[in-house]
Amino acid sequence: MDILSDINPVEKRIVSKATIAEIPISATFELTPICNFRCEMCYVRMDKNRVESFGGIKEYDYWLRLADELKKEGTLFLLLTGGEPLLYPNFLGLYIALKKMGFIITINTNATLITEEVADVFSKYPPRRINVTLYGADNDDYRSVCKVESGFDRCIRGVELLKKYNIATKFTLTLIENNRKSYQRMIELAMRLDIHATINAYTSVYMRSQCGSCDSILNVRMLPEDAAALEVEYLKYSKKEEFGKYMALMSVLSQSQQTSLPEGLKLSCRAGRSSCWINWQGVMTPCVDMDQPSVNLNNENFHDAWRAIVQKCKELTPHSECKDCTLKHACDICYANASNEKRVNGSVCYLCKMAEAKRDIFSSFGVDKQ
Ligand code: SF4
Ligand code: SF4
Repeated sequence: MDILSDINPVEKRIVSKATIAEIPISATFELTPICNFRCEMCYVRMDKNRVESFGGIKEYDYWLRLADELKKEGTLFLLLTGGEPLLYPNFLGLYIALKKMGFIITINTNATLITEEVADVFSKYPPRRINVTLYGADNDDYRSVCKVESGFDRCIRGVELLKKYNIATKFTLTLIENNRKSYQRMIELAMRLDIHATINAYTSVYMRSQCGSCDSILNVRMLPEDAAALEVEYLKYSKKEEFGKYMALMSVLSQSQQTSLPEGLKLSCRAGRSSCWINWQGVMTPCVDMDQPSVNLNNENFHDAWRAIVQKCKELTPHSECKDCTLKHACDICYANASNEKRVNGSVCYLCKMAEAKRDIFSSFGVDKQ
C-alpha cells in the first residue's frame, strides 16, 4: 500500500505535482533485514550471520548522507522499515536526526520493541504514523504465523504505550492461511483499541534472492477464493454505511461486459515516478515488490540513480495477459504483483481467481437485494 494513501488534500496536491514532475517526494529506507520474528511469508528476513556474509547493514552515516541527497531532490515523506526497524543500531538517534532534517516519517513495526523510552521519543518528535502489523488475535496466532512466544501480548503492550503517548497508530492485518479465521477478532480488537485497520489478504509472491525460494510463501498463503472473501468482508468495516452502495455499484459492474486496460497492465502507481524503495544494501528499486529496474547507490549518486529508475520504469512492457479484461473492477492487481506471479507461477491465474471470486460475491449481493 502507498504510504501516502491517507494524506490531506494539500499534501495530495503536492504529491500529484511531484508525480507529474517526476520528483521522488516519498522514499523508503529499509534499514535492516534482521527481525525478532520469523514469519513464514516474510520476503526479507535474514539472520545476523547471513546479513554479515552479504556485507552487513549500512551504517548510521550512510543513511544520513543519503537522506541529505534525497532532500536536495525534493523528498519530504520517508518510510522507515525492516525487518524490524527498531533493531537497527541507534534507531532512535537516526530517527531524531532525520526528523531534525525536516522529513515527515512513517514507521513500519511489529510493535514488540516499543518501550516507554521509544514512545517518549515519538511524543517529542512525532512521526506521521506508526504502522503496526498485526498477525493475529492471540498468542497462538503469533506462534503459528511468526514463530514466537507471547508475540501478541508483546505487540499489544507496545500498542498501548503508543496510545498512552498519543502517537498516531494504524494496524495492518496480515492474513495468511494460519490466521485467517481470526480476522473478525482482529478487527474487533482494532475497534476496541480505536485504531484504524487495513488488511493484506493478498500475499505477494515476491522474495528477495538472498532469502531463498518462495515455497514458504506458497505454503501459507490463502486460497484465492478465501483471500477474496476476506477482502469483501473487510469492506463492511472500511466502508461502513457506504457498504451497501458500494456493493450495489460493484454488482452492476459485475454484470457489465465493459472492458478496460486496452494496452495491457502498465506500471501506473507512483512507483518510479514520485516514489522509491532503498533496501538495506543500498539498492534502489521503484517499490518493495520489484527487483527490477534497480540501481545500486553504492556506485551512483542519488540524482543520477533516480533519473535512471524513472527512465527504466517508462520502458517496462505492459502485461498483455490483462488486456481488455472485464474483471478489472474486482481485481487489485498491480504491475509488480503481475510480474511476480508470472515469474513464480507462470501466469496471473491466482489474481484472476481472486477477481472472479470477488465478482461472484458482488453479483450475489445484487441478487440478494432484488
Ligand atoms: S515481522 Fe515483518 S520483517 Fe519480521 S519476520 Fe515478520 S514479516 Fe518479516
Ligand atoms: S483479473 Fe486477471 S487478467 Fe484481469 S486484470 Fe486481474 S490479473 Fe489481469
